Amino acid sequence: MTAQLLDGAAVAEAIRTEVRLKAGEQAQRTGLAPKLAAVLVGDDPASKVYVRNKIAACLEAGIRSVEIRIAGSAGQQEILAAVRRLNEDPDVDGILVQLPLPKSIDRFAVLLSIDPRKDVDGLHVINAGRLAMRLEGLVPCTPAGIIELLDRTGLPIAGQRAVIIGRSEIVGRPLATLLMHRDATVTVCHSKTRDLVSISRQADLLIAAIGHPAFVRGEHIKTGAIVIDVGINRVTDLNLVRQVFGDDSPRVAGAKERGFALLGDVHYREALERASWLTPVPGGIGPLTIACLLRNTVRAARMRREPTAWA
Ligand code: NDP
Repeated sequence: MTAQLLDGAAVAEAIRTEVRLKAGEQAQRTGLAPKLAAVLVGDDPASKVYVRNKIAACLEAGIRSVEIRIAGSAGQQEILAAVRRLNEDPDVDGILVQLPLPKSIDRFAVLLSIDPRKDVDGLHVINAGRLAMRLEGLVPCTPAGIIELLDRTGLPIAGQRAVIIGRSEIVGRPLATLLMHRDATVTVCHSKTRDLVSISRQADLLIAAIGHPAFVRGEHIKTGAIVIDVGINRVTDLNLVRQVFGDDSPRVAGAKERGFALLGDVHYREALERASWLTPVPGGIGPLTIACLLRNTVRAARMRREPTAWA
């Protein structure tokens, strides 16, 4: 069996087109397009790229944006004060604090300080609680993107046996809730799970959100499963890149040129042989995460200006 690739980039583009329309309508109605504030603490190169991409995506979708840069040496109070200013600014509809934060900072204190109505990453306990209770709210972007990808590709969720490897509050946990709401039978695995292979092999729908390159091998995958690879790992080990893509793959040539390759959490070649559908990395879940962030920003603007939506 050779898996078909799930086209995350195309689905993301469709969502962005819808967002562009809605942002335009909102701008016409209210005289103001929705606005996202992205808070970047420190100099982490990957975080800088993520924030730059999000700002560029806003521009393209007709959403206003501002980047708030805070020095890595800043204390927690300084970050909390910046978030407070954004909370109080009526012109700002959505706030995201780019993770990871420096180790000295209490991530939860910062995330909890965001006004839940502006929490476009959906990580505040109010939004996590609303999700658990099936109430309207802001849903974390990556899990929301995965559901969109399955729905818009016409792949079934109800009745499927879903196995998620990874239980982070950004991906695994909210995804488990969303899949449960859609009538999948969900198992969540993590680093303490015993006999992972025998569990993951039962999955009709296997989602990997681990942060270890090529962790999920052929043996983890049931023949014909749908495999969603959330991982984004920067790998400099050319041998691993060769092993995952094959010696003559353009991905190996690209990695030689750049000195690194982006690998998912799934062993691409082995998964291709077993799965029925597979997301590529890059071009799979990454673009969907950004598209859903834009959509959340438009939603946040609507909900804040129409508070009854939260009742
Ligand atoms: P976290 O580090 O927060 O969570 C990783 C999870 O994987 C944990 O639950 C951990 O278990 C589990 N895990 C680690 N090792 C094993 C193992 N050997 N066996 C089984 N489970 C294991 O990561 P994130 O959820 O934030 O991110 C996961 C990956 O997804 C990363 O590569 C990240 O870059 C990527 N990502 C991609 C996004 C996108 O837009 N495409 C968005 C967000 C993340 P335990 O809880 O026991 O520690």
